[in-house]
Amino acid sequence: MNKRFFLKIFSTFFLSILFTKRLISVENPNIINPNLTDEQKRIMFGDGTERAGTSPLNFEKRKGSYHCANCNAKLFESVSKFDSGTGWPSFNEAIPGAFKTKVDYSFGMKRIEYHCAKCGAHHGHVFNDGPGPNGKRYCNNGLCLIFIPD
Ligand SMILES: [Zn+2]
Repeated sequence: MNKRFFLKIFSTFFLSILFTKRLISVENPNIINPNLTDEQKRIMFGDGTERAGTSPLNFEKRKGSYHCANCNAKLFESVSKFDSGTGWPSFNEAIPGAFKTKVDYSFGMKRIEYHCAKCGAHHGHVFNDGPGPNGKRYCNNGLCLIFIPD
């Protein structure tokens, strides 16, 4: 393997760990829910990702709505949820205005990251390969969501 390429990957990985640690160790003014776990803080305020297939919400099929685990803003309706087979809860449509997006170049990929418009918490990435009329696939960390059944 090319030595410079390896060095670049290694430094990106190392810096992302440093940056994540720094972000969650500082008192983050955006943290509203005092009961967030360290893992939730790492994902929501350190742009982290939970391990695929670990969220019980992957199997949630009831009618209801999905809310931000930090600020409780309503983000998705259960009718927009679908099984993407990725191991993360996936949705083809978000509540209008629920999210803001930015381009994320981490890990050598160009992806669209989205975060809660109300509290700024990171939730996941949105892709253009989803089912449904707008073709979106919101790939959301389950730990960032609270499901409220109807
Ligand atoms: Zn929020």
